[in-house]
Amino acid sequence: MMREPTTHSKPSDTELRDEGIPKVDVMSIAERAPKTEETMSNTPDTTPPRTMISTRDFSSWYGKFKALHELNLDIPERMVTALIGPSGCGKSTFLRWINRMNDTITGARSTGAMTLGGEDITDSRYDVVDLRRRVGMVFQRPNPFPKSIFENIAYGANLHRKYSRSDLEQLVEHSLRQAAIWDEVKDRLKDSALGLSGGQQQRLCIARAIAVGPEVLLMDEPCSALDPRSSAAIEELIRSLREQYTIVVVTHNMQQAARISDITAFFYEGHLIETNETEKLFTRPAEKQTDDYISGRFG
Ligand code: ADP
Repeated sequence: MMREPTTHSKPSDTELRDEGIPKVDVMSIAERAPKTEETMSNTPDTTPPRTMISTRDFSSWYGKFKALHELNLDIPERMVTALIGPSGCGKSTFLRWINRMNDTITGARSTGAMTLGGEDITDSRYDVVDLRRRVGMVFQRPNPFPKSIFENIAYGANLHRKYSRSDLEQLVEHSLRQAAIWDEVKDRLKDSALGLSGGQQQRLCIARAIAVGPEVLLMDEPCSALDPRSSAAIEELIRSLREQYTIVVVTHNMQQAARISDITAFFYEGHLIETNETEKLFTRPAEKQTDDYISGRFG
């Protein structure tokens, strides 16, 4: 189904261009806080979700090797979209185009359209620094900086905008709370982030991504290096964050995709085979290849 692309209004484009740096304020993050009982209406919201990321005939290459073939995909706003498929089918390649991480790979190029909130992000004139503020990334292995817990959050946020000390403290607390790790670290913010467990480090990295006020969070197998308990905590966090962020998760774990996502896209050999609401894709796949994959016949 085609949906109208969204336009992004916050922060103000003019302000960004004028200052030359992306602008983030704590209030704009706080405004995106989850709905509380008071703010939730009893009437079910039947408005169809807006599209945040959209591709049309999007293909990509590493040199002569075509890794993605004419993808047409609409990723809805404030939902979790899981990208599944066997190893090497192009899931990470696709994810990396969304924040232009492939730009640094020699020979990597794309054709076709990819838009974020209606804006063409494949255009070389698009400001990549602004894109990476709008689109945060969380990797397979937690990668905190060798700095204090506080600095891990403050450092990146301060690169985008200079905060006063008290605003920074507020932002750090807010980000750590959103990433469900505040209670575990609030008494040791000056300690090294490297002393945290793997699961805590991953939640810290999510907090770090949140601190710059993104609209989209990309996660490339965020649980694959974690023990089952830490994975469960990250899964729960992903579910709660979807109230405020558009989340795209690559996972090779189908049970995980079924648990955490609203929409699932099945990739195979660089082709997008099928996209549907997660429950439908796993119970009534339209394509035989999807059926074969989810029932474990290959992959
Ligand atoms: P997945 O995430 O589904 O495992 P990838 O996106 O990592 O798949 O890889 C898709 C294809 O692109 C694979 O054939 C892989 O070998 C190839 N590929 C990935 N990264 C590079 C690269 N930097 N250079 C050349 N080929 C690459």
